Amino acid sequence: MTSKIQALDNKHHIHPFSDSKELHEINPREITHAEGVYIYDDKGNKLLDAMAGLWCVNIGYGRQELVDVATKQMSALPYYNLFFKTTHAPAAKLAAKIASLAPSHMNKVFFTGSGSEANDTVFRMVRRYWDLKDKPTKKQFISRENAYHGSTVVGASLGGMGYMHEQGDLPIAGISHVEQPYFFKDGGDLTQEAFGIKAAQSLEAKILELGEDNVAAFIAEPFQGAGGVIIPPTSYWPEIKRILAKYDILLVVDEVISGFGRTGEWFASQYYDLEPDLMPIAKGLSSGYLPIGGVIVGDKVAETLIDKGGDFNHGFTYSGHPVAAAVALKNIELLESEGIVERVKNETAPYLQKRWKELAAHPIVGETRGLGMVAGLELVRDKDTHERIAPNSKAGGICRDFSMANGLIMRPCGDTMIISPPLVITKAEVDELMEKALKALDETAKHYNLM
Ligand code: PMP
Repeated sequence: MTSKIQALDNKHHIHPFSDSKELHEINPREITHAEGVYIYDDKGNKLLDAMAGLWCVNIGYGRQELVDVATKQMSALPYYNLFFKTTHAPAAKLAAKIASLAPSHMNKVFFTGSGSEANDTVFRMVRRYWDLKDKPTKKQFISRENAYHGSTVVGASLGGMGYMHEQGDLPIAGISHVEQPYFFKDGGDLTQEAFGIKAAQSLEAKILELGEDNVAAFIAEPFQGAGGVIIPPTSYWPEIKRILAKYDILLVVDEVISGFGRTGEWFASQYYDLEPDLMPIAKGLSSGYLPIGGVIVGDKVAETLIDKGGDFNHGFTYSGHPVAAAVALKNIELLESEGIVERVKNETAPYLQKRWKELAAHPIVGETRGLGMVAGLELVRDKDTHERIAPNSKAGGICRDFSMANGLIMRPCGDTMIISPPLVITKAEVDELMEKALKALDETAKHYNLM
């Protein structure tokens, strides 16, 4: 039966990334509260949230310290802008804290309300940088197929999602996409190593095609998240670094998912030993408790903007919002003081990855992969040919539905099932996750008569 909330929702609410008509027919599930790694619905169901919301609730649900800090900040100063020669403690302290954790050549932060706004900021800041360097022809961005960089016009254009580009004539001009390092899909007869180098070299081919004088920046996620937890072969990033060292092009590493401990390092740029000029961040910055994002800016770009820049005509009403900033700062302090990132690195991530690999033996799993606290697996009918189970990636949705019915939130990305649990997950909760994931795989296999 449709509840009162569902009826209101159906009548008045348009959901993001959803088919509203379908949602009206099936009714959205009402989530009422959450604690630790679990969310609860109005029917009393308890679900292990192996996606940490949308890759964001790094610290887990229900942390009273974050509520307290928000309450205190709301009473003292619920809002003030940072446009007109003013600042406030939450924004200044948060920027300093982020700089202390970021790679040592990155010491400044520009705040936004989201990851998409962070990438819009990147787009404008990079072009401003090259203008100030008297190289105004350097305007083109190179991104990758199947990348995700947000849902605004710039974010969706920087992203490489065909299904997003189809709606509204995207990408906008000045953005091109090169090969993604998706070995399982595109590796063919190559070794992982050789394929990683080949995928990276598509960047160099594009730089040469466009001309170095026209290329502003290369943007990439350290591992692709929404694309399906695509972990590049170990040869990929070293080859990208080798190519970028030859050309005067900025490197933007989108750390919206990978930042704040997900890899077991504070940033994936540290995990992969990258030296980004700009790092968009969001999500784990506040563990999703309040919306906040930003761009961490390397010294090279910051010095140019500041020394030569004058006004940068860009910003948001909620840039550095005091309540969101205070909550983000406390969130980082808790991740730090409770040793959560080190525990991910030394204990939980190795355990999660060891257990996740066990799923590779399942009859409908073609590959498992992962690093830190993210993992993915490929659903297949045939392990050798990689033939998919059903047309149009239907099996992913079926597996997700079985998983939800068993009390586990796993997300399908086409034929890839992915997880990105809260960083505070315990080993016992990982065991529960695995048991439920296995059950969902068994039920999917039986549904298609493959077991
Ligand atoms: N970049 C990456 C890598 C992301 O995964 C996302 C969101 N999933 C974004 C940017 C956009 O962030 P937001 O949804 O906060 O705008």
